[in-house]
Amino acid sequence: MGRLAVVTGAARGIGLAISRRLVEDGWSVAGCDVLEQDLERASAELGDAFSPWPLDVTSEAAVGETAAGIESRLGPVFGLVNNAGITRDGLLMRMSIEDWDRVVAVNLTGSFLMCRAFSRGMLRQKEGSIVNISSVVALLGAAGQANYASTKAGLLGLTRTLAREFAGRNIRVNAIAPGFIETEMTRELPEKVREDYASRVPLNRMGQPASVAAAVSFLLGDDSSYITGTVIPVDGGLTT
Ligand code: NDP
Repeated sequence: MGRLAVVTGAARGIGLAISRRLVEDGWSVAGCDVLEQDLERASAELGDAFSPWPLDVTSEAAVGETAAGIESRLGPVFGLVNNAGITRDGLLMRMSIEDWDRVVAVNLTGSFLMCRAFSRGMLRQKEGSIVNISSVVALLGAAGQANYASTKAGLLGLTRTLAREFAGRNIRVNAIAPGFIETEMTRELPEKVREDYASRVPLNRMGQPASVAAAVSFLLGDDSSYITGTVIPVDGGLTT
């Protein structure tokens, strides 16, 4: 088995595509998600190189137990991909504190907890690569997504800060900002809205999860060994 990476939100969408790509690249993947049935399906598809770990990333205790369990059962972790994310959209005046708090808890606090739990081993072994999945809305803003865009912008601050904190220990921290990618998250949007989004993309189409996974593969692997603290848009030119 190859070196071990942990991927959150691994059961479907972009996280599943990332897991699939990393397994193809020769990594072993510990896939964490709240969706236990989808995790089992991913496990059946990806085989022994993928091990399913049911986890809610918002729980400090569960993240700690999972990190200890993965390290003792599977060995040292060299890669971490913080991909789990949710939306609870609404215009600011109608946004409840519950919808604000839940999105912050999953997208930002969850990533903080995972970075803190898994960097301990990386610091010890003086090697690791962390990739945070942000979004183009961190750079552009998006009406109706004050909570989501704030967390995705927060992830860029976390990325650049940890890149500086960990650089001396050979741990790299980078982010990817996907544009409009075809997954369950965007399938929920009305057809008219999806067409409108796609027409604003210079490449004139929505992106595929595999394109995000390819960028993750590059940032986790040795080909990017001199890259840290950066954000790579995978957006068909949307932010150019
Ligand atoms: P999906 O909703 O398809 O997948 C996200 C996965 O994360 C789901 O399986 C979800 O489970 C899981 N998850 C949610 N909450 C938690 C939690 N507390 N702990 C563990 N896992 C959890 O989304 P995408 O694949 O589209 O998105 C993946 C990432 O990419 C997200 O961070 C998203 O913000 C980002 N992104 C996506 C874009 C797109 O166009 N699709 C664009 C830019 C960024 P559940 O369904 O139960 O919530």
